[in-house]
Amino acid sequence: MRPSACPGLLRIVPALDGGICRVKLAGGVLSASQALAIADAIDEHASGIVDITNRANLQLRGVKRGHEEALIAALLDAGLGPQDATHAHADDVRNVMVSPAAGRDAHALSDTTALAADLLTLLQSDPRCAALSPKFALLLDGGERLMMLDHPHDIWFSAMQPSDHAEPLYALGLAGCPPVAAEHANALAAVAASDVPALTRALLHTFLDLAAPEHTRMRDVIAAHSVDNVLAHAEPQSGISLLRGEPVERWRREPADASRRLGARQQRDGQRWHIGAQPALGRMNSTTLRGLAVLAQQQNHEGAMLHMTPWQTVLLTDIDTSNVAATLQTLETLGLATTPHNPLTRVIACAGSTGCAKSLADTKADALKLAARGVPAQTQVHLSGCPRSCAAAHCAPYTLLATSQNRYDLYTTQDPRESTGFGRLLARGVTIDEAADILNASAAPPFDEPFDA
Ligand code: SF4
Repeated sequence: MRPSACPGLLRIVPALDGGICRVKLAGGVLSASQALAIADAIDEHASGIVDITNRANLQLRGVKRGHEEALIAALLDAGLGPQDATHAHADDVRNVMVSPAAGRDAHALSDTTALAADLLTLLQSDPRCAALSPKFALLLDGGERLMMLDHPHDIWFSAMQPSDHAEPLYALGLAGCPPVAAEHANALAAVAASDVPALTRALLHTFLDLAAPEHTRMRDVIAAHSVDNVLAHAEPQSGISLLRGEPVERWRREPADASRRLGARQQRDGQRWHIGAQPALGRMNSTTLRGLAVLAQQQNHEGAMLHMTPWQTVLLTDIDTSNVAATLQTLETLGLATTPHNPLTRVIACAGSTGCAKSLADTKADALKLAARGVPAQTQVHLSGCPRSCAAAHCAPYTLLATSQNRYDLYTTQDPRESTGFGRLLARGVTIDEAADILNASAAPPFDEPFDA
């Protein structure tokens, strides 16, 4: 079993601003009563602040010294712990990403909610999974329009609808993302939905069979053993014949639409709506959390829940048509942005120097400054205090990487020329004002040599 320094519900780790407690949410879902429990808990035992993470979980910050046990007990009482709360690894392995609109997205090929619950049970109940890294993660994509497709996952499944099958199949890939564009890596195989749990178990065991002590992610095992050998090991273990061939290789997923994370969208039943809103920089205080809980409670439908999203936003589900306008208004009153016109929906930032000793700048404050200067429509900017990129598991179109207090290197992926890491270096050592000037002139970006501020 690998020791871990990652925060969890049962493992509160120290940071500059106190302890960090990460609460992993099944499918990103939080009930109103759980939101109220967290609001009370962070007021009593922490700093009253909670961040939404890029894996649609919650991170409670500023846990007070000596309050750790009481906080954990309050969270477990609220039903936020793993199936077996006596082992930290049972908490660590709860990494199955689904669409925040799973089961409700009008464009989905498949409802992933039951299958995702099966995979979470498998991860928590199989004793061998205790040896997985807390970062080892699965993606279960039902083909929803609202889906995060940019985060690489160790194992991914994505619904596909071959013309000769009545039911959707699930395409499979390892150490990557479902292919959308021609240049993306093809899916490796496909299976029926009913075969996904057995195949997942076989792939997890294969990973654990082949992984050397230094291998924590599927990409490490593939680099050492090749994809073909991983599948050749897993397929007989699973007892399933994988579907391969041209239809699987040619398959491309329909593009997702991240703009659906904001505002009101009709659900697949045609009766209700999901409504998305963005707390500034994915951070909420207990008052906001209580307001969201009350909003969910006020709906007429028991399915009205709070769904955290990997864009660090909140999605309220199952809103009656008659409640849509009032719900949008309340969200705005709570300080959340519900339209992409708000520049705060175009910036994300890590904890920064007020919370993390590694940060070279106060990224949170600087991100607010940048938003106040305006960020062009369709642009997303990520401010990171160091190269670890905690706020984004994928490369944002623009990244400001701190180099010192108030100074950043600006990178972009919007340049078609070859680049690595955060993209091509566009400007070196710029202030937030200088970065804003460059971004706001970026309709025709100055992709010449990087300039030094
Ligand atoms: S990206 Fe770096 S500076 Fe920011 S929170 Fe993560 S470790 Fe800290």
